[in-house]
Order: sequence, then C-alpha cells, then structure tokens
Amino acid sequence: MSTQRDYYEILGVPKDASESEIKKAYRKLAMKHHPDKSKEPDAEEKFKEISEAYAVLSDKEKRAQYDQFGHAGIDSRYSTEDIFRTADFGGFEDILEHIFGGGFGGFGGFGGFGDQRSTHRRPTRGSDLRYDLEITLEQAAFGDSVQIQVPRTINCEACNGTGAKAGTSPINCSKCNGTGQVTHSRNTPFGRFMTTTTCDQCHGTGKVIASPCPECHGSGKVRKTKKIAVKIPKGADTGLRLKVAGEGEEGSPGAPSGDLYVVLHVKPHDMFERIGDDILFEQPISFAQAALGGSVEVPTLYGKVRMNIKPGTQTHSIMRLKGKGMPHLHGHGQGDQLVKVVVKTPTNLTKEQKKALMEFDRLCRGNEDSNKGGSVFDKFKGTFESLFLDDKASKSNPLAE
Ligand SMILES: [Zn+2]
Ligand SMILES: [Zn+2]
Repeated sequence: MSTQRDYYEILGVPKDASESEIKKAYRKLAMKHHPDKSKEPDAEEKFKEISEAYAVLSDKEKRAQYDQFGHAGIDSRYSTEDIFRTADFGGFEDILEHIFGGGFGGFGGFGGFGDQRSTHRRPTRGSDLRYDLEITLEQAAFGDSVQIQVPRTINCEACNGTGAKAGTSPINCSKCNGTGQVTHSRNTPFGRFMTTTTCDQCHGTGKVIASPCPECHGSGKVRKTKKIAVKIPKGADTGLRLKVAGEGEEGSPGAPSGDLYVVLHVKPHDMFERIGDDILFEQPISFAQAALGGSVEVPTLYGKVRMNIKPGTQTHSIMRLKGKGMPHLHGHGQGDQLVKVVVKTPTNLTKEQKKALMEFDRLCRGNEDSNKGGSVFDKFKGTFESLFLDDKASKSNPLAE
C-alpha cells in the first residue's frame, strides 16, 4: 500500500466525526460500492478501501494511533489485503457482522451479502444415475421405446453453472487472495514456523461468489426432470441394465456428464410365467378332452393357436409350442411356450351326468386294460406296487414316472 488515501477522506467525514457519523457514512458507501450493487469495475477495490478505513476509524484505539501517526501508526493487520484475509473476516457477511454487530434484518439493501459462499469449482464428472423401470412381459418380448422422466441435477442455465448472478462472475477469494492456500506463520522459541493449508473459505479454488445466482442460490446446479427415450430390446429380462450414456447428472462446466442406467423389472403376467426364454402356460381341459383327445385354442404372446390334445393325455403333462416363447436377448431365435394341461375334475354334476359317469366307471371295472383310467382302488394298488416292485411293474402304472 504505497499510495494510501486518508481514511477520513475515503469515508467523506471530518476529522472530528462522531462514531455514529462514521458508521453512517460507511453504511452509505458500502451499499454504493459493494460489488453486488455497483457495476463499476473497481467496485471491489473501493469496497475494500472503505472497509479498511472504517475498520480503523471505528476502533477508538486504532483511530487515535492513526490520528497521531497516520498510516504508519496502524498495525499491519489492518492493511487492505489482510483485513480480508484474516480469519476474523470470513467474507463480506462477516465483515458487516463484525462492524454492525450482526442482524441484517432491517438492512434490506444488503440482502445479497448473507449469501456469500465459497464454491467448489474443480471440473468434476457428473454422477451416474439409476432408474428402475417396470415393463410388461409383452414389452420384454417385442421390445419397445418408452419415455421416462428422469429428475437430475444439471448446470444452472441462468448462470451457466458458475453460481454467480448473471453479469457477475466469481471473484478472487479474499481470504487467500485467489491462491487457494493460506500460509500461517508462528513464532516459537525454536524459530518461525510457516504452515500452508488449503483455504477453507474457497476450498482451494481461489474463487468465491459475492453475488449468488438467484436461480440456483449460488450452487450452480438445479434439479430438472428430463424426458429420455429408452429402447427396450427384445428378450429383455428383469435385472437388465440399459446404459444411456451422458444422461446422468451433469458435470461441472467443462466436465463430462454421468451416465444413466435404466434397470428393468418385468411385471408378473396374468397368464404367462416366464422361465428363461420359455413361457409356461396352464391350459385347463375337461376329463373328456383328456381321455378322447381333441383340439384346444391356446393363447400365446403371438396370438391364439390351436393345439392338439392326444387321446389319453394325463393331467399336468406338458406340451411344447415351438418358437412361441421369448426371443433370445442376444442372438437369433426364441424360446418355446410350454403348455401344461390341467384336467379339471367336474363339480356340481347333474343327475344325468352322474348316471353317465357311474355307468362309465362300471364299464371301466369290466375292462382289465383300462386301469389307466381305473378306479381309485386300482390307482392306489398301482402306486404301492411301483414302490415295492421292479421297473416292469412301475412302467405299467400311470402314476409312476
Ligand atoms: Zn445459477
Ligand atoms: Zn480462498
């Protein structure tokens, strides 16, 4: 500070100004020259100058020294740079707090001061995002393109991610003077020790935001939901992770965005059960259909198909409809549909139906070869035989595999 102006002159007060006159003058000038309010390029310098003048003149002891010895009488701690650098003054907010004793409630013009904050502006890649997406079995089978709404953090458009109000830019950190590092010296009986630490006000970036962007409150980031089209491949299954490059959180300006990972979950289907690339379907048939054979209409993912039932089909036997399953995710071809036929036992029989069945049963008893559809006793007999007799015996028994 080779050319220092007179402190009274800076504040525009007479040499015998009272404490309140000095305070008043400072408030007026601080409001006028604060970089938040002033568009002048040297606003920051001016603000520092008046703050320095005030810091001295508002302190009785310092003022007396200044009156007597001029700038030479002032502790070097009060030089322009140090007043902003010393730990006692974290920033504009702290300076004002220090001088006016805090409480800016009625101090409307300074609303922005309290928002001063440090920023962390090293270019960092955006984080990856995970989005869990439920799809239907049909979507998994045929593929689909769906729009999803992904809430994510992007750089604030109002300030281009700088966090500084439009028309302003982050200023050099006052504590470290823009270097990002603070050096402390300590005198000890063994000598002078110097320690350098990362500036805690700007976290080593050397920049702080004096006038935060009102959109993002100085963070440089805002939350925004984006519509993103996701292509579901044919044959997709639960747990499949689709990567949508660059659609994660936006990186800081100049750094790449993260990626979006869409994790698929196939909802259970009313009719079809998926087993790998095969589809299992249960087809109810009547006892007569099972015994006499016939054809039934079976629903598949690809529409209805007719399927033949061989005469003498046992319940829970499985028939295969080739190629009616899920497409293979990677590669060609597709799985099958497995049709499990389930013989439904009739209930609520009419008199006539009962009579017919009893007649049928009577006929079965007379027929030695028909133990396949034989009486209950025959079935049990067969089961016990299969447990204790050899293979030959069990082969003749329909209940033993
Ligand atoms: Zn902003
Ligand atoms: Zn700093």
